[in-house]
Amino acid sequence: MERPEPMLVRNARLPDGRESQDVLSIDGRITAIGPGLAAPAGARIVEAEGLLLSPPFVDPHFHMDATLSYGLPRVNQSGTLLEGIALWGELKPHLTQEALVERALQYCDWAVAKGLLAIRTHVDVCDDRLLAVEALLQVKKTVAPYLDLQLVAFPQDGVLRSPTALANLKRALDLGVDVVGGIPHFERTMADGAQSVKILCELAAERGLRVDMHCDESDDPLSRHIETLAFETHRLGLHGRVTGSHLTSMHSMDNYYVSKLLPLMREAQVHAIANPLINITLQGRHDTYPKRRGMTRVPELMAAGINVAFGHDCVMDPWYSLGSADMLEVAQMGLHVAQMTSQAQMRACFDAVTINAAKLMGLEGYEIEVGSHADFVLLQARDPVEAIRLRANRLMVVRRGRVVAHTPAATATLNLEGRPPSVDWTLRR
Ligand SMILES: [Zn+2]
Repeated sequence: MERPEPMLVRNARLPDGRESQDVLSIDGRITAIGPGLAAPAGARIVEAEGLLLSPPFVDPHFHMDATLSYGLPRVNQSGTLLEGIALWGELKPHLTQEALVERALQYCDWAVAKGLLAIRTHVDVCDDRLLAVEALLQVKKTVAPYLDLQLVAFPQDGVLRSPTALANLKRALDLGVDVVGGIPHFERTMADGAQSVKILCELAAERGLRVDMHCDESDDPLSRHIETLAFETHRLGLHGRVTGSHLTSMHSMDNYYVSKLLPLMREAQVHAIANPLINITLQGRHDTYPKRRGMTRVPELMAAGINVAFGHDCVMDPWYSLGSADMLEVAQMGLHVAQMTSQAQMRACFDAVTINAAKLMGLEGYEIEVGSHADFVLLQARDPVEAIRLRANRLMVVRRGRVVAHTPAATATLNLEGRPPSVDWTLRR
């Protein structure tokens, strides 16, 4: 590939609040940040005009093997998690590798357009053909120049409950899948759930891999597999390499128990992922009123020093009929469900779809710092809170110093009786 021309972004605001910053990129890396930088010969100049230059969005929890399959072979009538899992089971035998690759690539295009340049996707390993694994490994290779795709070997039907799941999971890891997944709350008993966590964490330790489990995605306050996950992480020395996804049962747990659980998670440096769009939709379905929200305790986890990120989880699949690869929509829902309305908390919701998610995926050279990759998004907003509020336009998406997507600025033209016509995107402010 040809070397990209140098790029100088002038007068940007950074997510940490620094204003009037110029960002210079040469050969795909950020080489200087500061006010009033000189442009090298032949550099492409981008005037940011005080708008927000953010690192790319990161989705730490997704299902790319199921995405864009909404309505195949039928629509989820009850809207529940369990009907979704059953529906996915009906669809699986009819999947073809070509269709999977095509849908995944289409989703990756949507992602790039939205400045989403890193995705951790779970891939179901309970199909003995490992068709989805092969398809997504192919997609990972295809999109590598513009999107970091990390794959999790996910035994959707339970690593103990499904007779061939463990062998398939190991085969998937042999083929190059990056992360060990699990689903302890879907095993037949609590004891099997705990046993599955132990087996899978040992497998990850043996192979030097990270772990990310669907953990306690339930309203059952006694679903406590996160405790075992934190314990095994600590026992096996996997600190900082393990993630608990969903953790929705924590919403319903006894407060005293949670006061003991949070320090245990912190000690093991377990990361947490909430999936606000899905958690608010799927949880509390057995409640009448009052109805539980079912999202994990995001502000409390953050206050306890635990790294929390937000995932999109699903887009137009058996579990969820909406979504558009827009991580600002995810952040906005997370902010609302968790009532994180202080300035600091709203900024933390922006971090949950950028730097926190990058951290748990182990992405290197991610933040806007000298020496990092020249990967960033120019947003049509002045700061992270405004970006969430407006679900701001991605004016320009840059990967390794190259513009990979751009969107025209949103404007409205008003023609009102007795007033001069006005054109201004700030009308929405
Ligand atoms: Zn999931």
